[in-house]
Formats: sequence, structure tokens, C-alpha cells
Amino acid sequence: MRMMVGILLAGLLLLASCAGSPQQREVEATTPNILFIFTDDHASHAIGAYGSRFPGDNTPNLDQLAAEGMRFSRCAVTNSICAPSRAVILTGKHSHLNGVLTNAERFDGAQMTFPKLLQQKGYQTALFGKWHLKSEPTGFDHYERLIGQGPYYNPKMRFPADSEKGFDERRHEGYTTDIITDLAIDWLKDRKSGEGPFMMMVQHKAPHRHWQPAPRHLDLFADVQIAEPDNLFDDYSTRTTAARIQDMEIATTLTPHDLKLAKQRGFTEKQEAAWMASYGPRNTEFTKKMEEMSSEEIVRWKYQRYLKDYLRCIRAVDENIGRLMKTLEDLDLSKETIVIYSSDQGFFLGEHGWFDKRFMYEECYRTPLIVRWPGVTEAGKVNDQLVSNLDYAQTFLDLAGVEMDRPEVKAMQGISMKPLLEGKEVPFRKSHYYQYYEYHGDRTTAHMVRRHRGVATERYKLIHFYNLDEWELFDLKTDPQEMKNRADDPELAEVRKELEAELERLASEYGVPDDRGSVPRDPHARIQALKKPQKPKSD
Ligand code: CA
Repeated sequence: MRMMVGILLAGLLLLASCAGSPQQREVEATTPNILFIFTDDHASHAIGAYGSRFPGDNTPNLDQLAAEGMRFSRCAVTNSICAPSRAVILTGKHSHLNGVLTNAERFDGAQMTFPKLLQQKGYQTALFGKWHLKSEPTGFDHYERLIGQGPYYNPKMRFPADSEKGFDERRHEGYTTDIITDLAIDWLKDRKSGEGPFMMMVQHKAPHRHWQPAPRHLDLFADVQIAEPDNLFDDYSTRTTAARIQDMEIATTLTPHDLKLAKQRGFTEKQEAAWMASYGPRNTEFTKKMEEMSSEEIVRWKYQRYLKDYLRCIRAVDENIGRLMKTLEDLDLSKETIVIYSSDQGFFLGEHGWFDKRFMYEECYRTPLIVRWPGVTEAGKVNDQLVSNLDYAQTFLDLAGVEMDRPEVKAMQGISMKPLLEGKEVPFRKSHYYQYYEYHGDRTTAHMVRRHRGVATERYKLIHFYNLDEWELFDLKTDPQEMKNRADDPELAEVRKELEAELERLASEYGVPDDRGSVPRDPHARIQALKKPQKPKSD
């Protein structure tokens, strides 16, 4: 232990001696700060600037950020689920290389990440909010993080400390989205000039399930009818078995707790009273009417409850983005700070009758990405290139002036988006590789989405559910909602052949091991598909 403390002290002394070096000052003069604001499960189609079908004024600060920066319309993730996406962002490597294939694995903090390389470059690095990778964060000068998923209210948070464990914990009182922002703002204010540029990750729990809004937003949208998607009552008629045997339907999977029909815990008395005052009368009204409602009407009621809570959680995120932007201005940091907004993936907001993510379908395969780089990125630009969360690490390193031919950077698998942000017309990715792993071969898997891998191009998407050995092919130009599987359409036979070859080429390029034997050919698929009750049809 004494030796460890000695090593730590030596490290601190080394850092302190670097802080004022000529190299450090040069870094400070020429490199921007990086502020990465990150949410959990925020679908881009719930952001006004992306053309949301929801009430238009719910994200004014995000819309402002998009108006001042560049909005990416086709940013995809490589594996649409929480922990894996975070690991991809930190490492710039696909799941099979960073070791986080599903939400079950522990992130190996010894591996190279972009925050570590930024530290080496002289950046101060900090993280506040959700981490969700089981191991303690590495590569940060300071952090204060939620433990696991973390609650929406009164969170206990963990921070590095001079203790045997290396960390300590404290409980905050209040709404988590506000608290995470408070911590970030305090850290910005406490920074001393001359400490070098910073890279700060502000990572919200919101708007993750179970969508608990802040007390000030409990009545937001109370009298508003939220628009439904056209395919809320999708019958999956042309899709593979995988679409029919998932467990993520608004109709059947949402729980009374999700819907605020069951008691919510973890509140203070005052918070509890606010909740009861808002949800109590509405719940009483619903339970009175429920007996007389058709199954379709109940799905519609659940959709309204789910979406209103989801959008309320986003309202708090947006307000807090406004607070952060104001802080940058107050501290005179706006011009020298690149602000990036993104989420770990998108989300189904009733499309196909679903909530949640995981599938390689557009709503959750895409994630929001907005970048404001003052003085460089042309304001209000929309970029349609096939970018990816795989690209974030190299982009941030490139923005910070880290040498892109360093072996640690060359080992990454993404592409720097810096030229795109500079408005350069450069060739970018023509096809994007996806693989989802979290299905364990039994009925205990959350949401029961079968393993699949796929490739997307500008126009098409080919998906192989390899435990089922079933294929889907979509023409995104004529069928952006992915309602018509054309895998066996003779008209697209040539396209399918090319995409299958491209899928293999990408898997080989990225060194993806063959996962097809990892879970036996799905034993439940056929039985469950036959047993599944027919959903009510909309007409
Ligand atoms: Ca997520």
C-alpha cells in the first residue's frame, strides 16, 4: 500500500512538473476544449432539429446548438445497447476488440482510450454522470459517476479518493439530470487558468427507462395528444421471426412501474407529494375507464404515458444543456470549446409497437450527433455521411492535435470526422458494420432480441439474424420505416449478393470472430412465433 501511495505521489509530481512546461503552454494556445454531452437512449427523432413529430418546442437548446453547428443525419452505432456503445466510444474499437459485447461484461480499464491519449497530450479530463461500465473510470483527472444505472432522484455517486478502495461515495438530493450538470458547472468554475485545455464528458442517465421526470415537468404535456407513429400496430408481416418474438412491446412488455401505475421509490417526502399530486388523479381516471377500453385503446393510452414521460425527461436534459452553454459563455470559454451532443444509441418511440433499442433498425441504429465548433464548422449545416460512434475517439484526438499515426490511434477502427466538420468534401465511409450480441440462447435475456449482424449503405440495409438464419433486406429510399423485407425479392437479388459480400469484407477487415456457433440455432423461435397472440390491427 505504502509503495502504491509512493507511486501515486511520484505520478502527481510528474504531472505537476508538466503543467507549466513550454509544451503544455503550446497545447493550451492551439487546442480547443472538448465538451462531450451524452445521454442514454435519446432518439434523434425526439429532437426538434431532426424533424421530430413531437411538440416542436421541447428541445430549444439542442436546436440552437444544431443551428450554430453541424448536425449529422446518419450517425450509426455499431451495437445498439448502452454499455457496448460507451466502450466503443472510449476505445474507437468494435465490441469484439474492446471486450464489452453486451451489458454484462466489465470494461477493462487498462486498455487504451481516447481520454488517456488526451491526458498525455496535456488535457485535463473529467467525467460526470453515468458511466455504466462496471470497472472504475480510467483516464480521468477527476470524475463523479452514478453507480450502475443510477436513479433519477437523489443519486449516490462515486468519485476518486485517497482511500483503500481508491474511491468514495456521497448521496445527493435532487434530480439527477440537474445534479450531474451542477457538478460539471462547479468543475468548470473551479478550474484555474493555465491548467491546459479540458475534455469533459457530461453523461446523463436520462432519458433511459423508467423515464421519471423532474418535479417541475410532471404536468408538462398533460393536455397534449402526442402524435403516434404510422406503425404503432405493426403486424411484422414481411419481417423475420426476430421481429415477432422480441419482448419490447408497448402492448405487453411495459410494466406498471414503467407506466407510473405502481409505487415509485427513492423519493423525499416533498418529491413523493409532487408525484402523487400529478399521477394520482390521472391514474385513478385511467383505472376507472380501463375495464371499458379495447386492447387497442389501452396500447394507445400506454403510448401516451410512455412518450410524455420520455419527453419530460428530455426537457430536463435540454434545460441543463442551456445551463452548460450559459456557463461556457459566462466563463468566456464558448469560442475555444467544441461542444458535441450525442447519445449511446437511438430508441423506439412506438415505431413497430416498441420501446427499447438493440435492433439494427433506423430508430435505434441511428444516434443524434450535433457538433458546434466555433469559427470552423459552418453554422446550421447538415451532414448526411455514414458516420458512427466508432469514429468519436479518433475525431476527438484529431481535434486535439494528437498525432493520427501513433500506433495507439492507428489501432482504432473509426475515421476522424474532423475534415467533415471543417466542411471539406472528402470521401467517407460507404458501408457500416453492425453486430448485436445480447441474446443468451434462453428465455432469460432482456427483451429477447436475437443476435444479428448487418451492413448499411447509403440506400440499403442487409441484416442476418444468425441464430435464426433469417435475412432482412430493406430499401431505405423507398421504405425508410423498414416495413417491407425484400431479402427474397428477385428484383434485389443482385443487391443482396453485393451486400452479403460487403458484410463479409467488413467482418474480415475488422477482424470479427465468427459468432454463429456461440448460441445454438434458436430453439424457441418457432414455438414462440406460433404462440404469440395476434396483435390488434389498426385500419
Ligand atoms: Ca442506452
